[in-house]
Amino acid sequence: MGFVCPNKECRKCLRLAEFRDSNEIKFPKYYNGPVPSFGDLSAEILVVGLAPGLHGANQTGRPFTNDYAGDVLYPILKDEGLARGEYKRIKDDGFELCNVRVSNAVRCVPPLNKPTTEEEKICRQYLKQEIESMKNLKVILSLGTISHKNVLSVLEKKQSLYKFSHAMVHNLGGGIMLVDSYHTSRYNINTGVLTEDMFREVIRKIKELI
Ligand code: SF4
Repeated sequence: MGFVCPNKECRKCLRLAEFRDSNEIKFPKYYNGPVPSFGDLSAEILVVGLAPGLHGANQTGRPFTNDYAGDVLYPILKDEGLARGEYKRIKDDGFELCNVRVSNAVRCVPPLNKPTTEEEKICRQYLKQEIESMKNLKVILSLGTISHKNVLSVLEKKQSLYKFSHAMVHNLGGGIMLVDSYHTSRYNINTGVLTEDMFREVIRKIKELI
């Protein structure tokens, strides 16, 4: 089955749909919908984050765009030859990913950045379709434990066999490797849980895998 991007009106998660409704009133110029993935389906690398940020991807309609996490992610992808153009925190900046696609485990912005387990489960159908549609996929980079957990669920892998660990490479079989990284969130960077050098090392490790 080909990848089916969720319809902008998708209301399968009622709480998230209602949150979008309230944001539509508060921020009428924002995208306020399920954020489509960025990059080609033919890419060998899929980056999976958590969910759109309220004033980031939910505003711009492109994952990690106008988000602190994107300020870390995109310049490093570019430095490592996996993107080109100038990242300007807007959807139409002409910035392009090279052999990378960027997505989220949950496609609508959740209140307080926290989707429920049920919302993750419901939205996983889109992540599943996306992964199945990426015929050249070799590496999935999970940013954070929620991404890691959902990727394993999509691929029907036992969670206990693949514990999340920063910079760990898990061979999931079928030619797919799962690489873990702490999320490039402002919190993780500000607290030193993740540094830009640590994240760059993860990206370099991925380049060696493909
Ligand atoms: S989070 Fe996913 S499944 Fe839920 S409403 Fe948004 S697009 Fe639909």
